[in-house]
Amino acid sequence: CGIIGVLGDHEVAPILVEALKRLEYRGYDSAGIATVQNGTLDRRRAVGKLNNLSDLLVHDALAGKAGIGHTRWATHGTPTVANAHPHRAGRVAVVHNGIIENYRDLRMRLKDRVFESETDTETVAQLCESFLEAGLPPRDAAAETLKHLEGAFALAFLFDGEDDLIVAARKGSPLCIGHGDGEMFVGSDAIALAPLTNMITYLDEGDYAFITRAGVEIRDAAGRLANREAQTISAQA
Ligand code: GLU
Repeated sequence: CGIIGVLGDHEVAPILVEALKRLEYRGYDSAGIATVQNGTLDRRRAVGKLNNLSDLLVHDALAGKAGIGHTRWATHGTPTVANAHPHRAGRVAVVHNGIIENYRDLRMRLKDRVFESETDTETVAQLCESFLEAGLPPRDAAAETLKHLEGAFALAFLFDGEDDLIVAARKGSPLCIGHGDGEMFVGSDAIALAPLTNMITYLDEGDYAFITRAGVEIRDAAGRLANREAQTISAQA
């Protein structure tokens, strides 16, 4: 299971799939990516090996220079396309590693919404979309969503209409930000980001981050601006 996110300068679909391959060692049962192209959010998902996702993308390409990707190790819901990430509700797509412990309570709270998967993760997307519909801008909707989540997770959010924003969050599951030259990355570990950058900022427990191509704004669990050092990771095989 792994997470990758790229705000890039090139088509991101192949970059996302390559990065997910570097996370294969963690194990997974399905995979998917979402991108924003000309403001439009779209996604592709496949069960089984990453080659199945690559094959799908050959026939049904996904353009765009901003995107998120995921390899899933199912905990809630069988390994099907419908349960594969990214999960989408309206204008937001979410990838998640870990478990949202209070997903049943959240699903009750969101019982008027139409769910399309059995996962704990979809509650995150649906909750965020409910805040977007209530008028919150994407950053605030994601931050508000995080306040309601219990459990261990790494998350990345991508929004329709936003070519230059990924919101990432870490609680009990590692996540790091990668700094490029006019590009920014997020990944489960530095290995995923190794071919893209060796300049890494590790999020602390409870941190969340607003990532744009210009840089990253990191906030701690209380919402205060946090200063986390970037470090240069030595080259990895
Ligand atoms: N709990 C989520 C699911 O079952 C995420 C699993 C993972 O860490 O890949 O979809």
